[in-house]
Amino acid sequence: MTAQPGTVHLVGAGPGDPGLITVRGRQILQSADVVVYDRLVAPELLESARPDARRVSAGKAPGGRGPSQTQVNAQIIEHARAGRSVCRLKGGDPFVFGRGAEEIAEVAAAGIPWDVVPGVTSAVAAPAAAGIPLTHRDWASTATLVTGHEGESKDGAPVDWAAVAAAGGTIVILMGVATLPTTCERLIAAGRPSSEPVAVIERATWPEERITLGTLADIAETVEQRAVRNPAVVVVGPVVWALRGGST
Ligand code: SAH
Repeated sequence: MTAQPGTVHLVGAGPGDPGLITVRGRQILQSADVVVYDRLVAPELLESARPDARRVSAGKAPGGRGPSQTQVNAQIIEHARAGRSVCRLKGGDPFVFGRGAEEIAEVAAAGIPWDVVPGVTSAVAAPAAAGIPLTHRDWASTATLVTGHEGESKDGAPVDWAAVAAAGGTIVILMGVATLPTTCERLIAAGRPSSEPVAVIERATWPEERITLGTLADIAETVEQRAVRNPAVVVVGPVVWALRGGST
């Protein structure tokens, strides 16, 4: 499948390793007239775009420098209206905490055709690449996906941490490094054992991948000591040890 003129293709780039984009995602990327990409997208991936394709960075550095969401949306719409095929390349899966839906809502409102190429989300890929199964017949029959970044936007729905804790099973937290101390406290207050295992997987599937292990009681301190930074996925639950046999 090739990119279609006047169409916006919202494509998941996968978690980091350029080998983890889907075949269809790569086909769209290779054929698009315009590639609008986020900060977390691997530079190697952009090399597979057409040499004459326009490359537009939509990424925001931490601290908020870069184009606003409104500017990005306006550019995407302008290119599509001019009859160009647009590959909107977003890290992981475009609809998992990625604002993909907000972008597509505007594209759709502008009457522009669009489609989505799903991506390998870091929420699943980071634990998998670290050898942590999110579900396991013996250990977890649910996995809850949650953002640690609630409250950033005043319209954002707040996270009910007590309900997350009560759901049992595995908890996967994205954008959760800065708020990790509070999150651990809340989960313990809501009844999760302080000895419950936690893994923080930083830059999963990138060459710099780093895994930090601990428990709800001590992980926040270890993460601070090791200067763990975003992007990182936090996994809480006994599955952390499922394949590790109780040793690092
Ligand atoms: N749509 C993306 C998530 C965007 S939100 C997806 O499906 O993966 C950004 C957050 O994703 C980061 O703060 C981090 O929690 C997580 N993330 C993205 N790439 C990651 C990676 N390679 N390693 C660890 N976490 C990652």
